[in-house]
Amino acid sequence: MAIEQTLSIIKPDAVGKDAIGTILSRFESNGLRVKAMKMVRMTREQAQAFYAVHADKPFYNDLVAFMISGPVVVAILEGEDAIARNRELMGATNPQEAEPGTIRADFATTIDANAVHGSDSPETAVTETAFFFNRLEIFDRE
Ligand code: ATP
Ligand code: MG
Repeated sequence: MAIEQTLSIIKPDAVGKDAIGTILSRFESNGLRVKAMKMVRMTREQAQAFYAVHADKPFYNDLVAFMISGPVVVAILEGEDAIARNRELMGATNPQEAEPGTIRADFATTIDANAVHGSDSPETAVTETAFFFNRLEIFDRE
């Protein structure tokens, strides 16, 4: 077990459903503490850069269009095994396959608009947190 940081995004569909508070509450009540947070509306160029790893996938253009369709809430979460814990709370990428009680099962119905993003490794967590936040925006919560 290690203390990790991970990047969370509450995607435009969940923001549009007024689920920000409920989703943040799930993080906070499951050992993930908010170290940084803001609401942003990404430009197309920013969303393309953020999801550059998927640039060759057939769903890339739709994914970018969806991510800029409205504001998102980005946050840095910290806790024991934060990367895996966040992904457990999120549930499977396809909400139809997500375990009952997970965020995607409860707030999403399609793989295109699946409520939340979470970093998938320590390496992506570092690049993704730096993508959205500078040092002055990240707070020591000890
Ligand atoms: P995220 O990166 O958003 O946390 P993830 O790590 O569970 O999700 P990835 O494989 O990284 O899933 O895919 C990134 C996003 O691209 C997914 O959240 C989903 O919205 C979209 N996506 C992935 N696979 C498909 C697909 N087969 N069809 C349509 N959209 C997809
Ligand atoms: Mg991913």
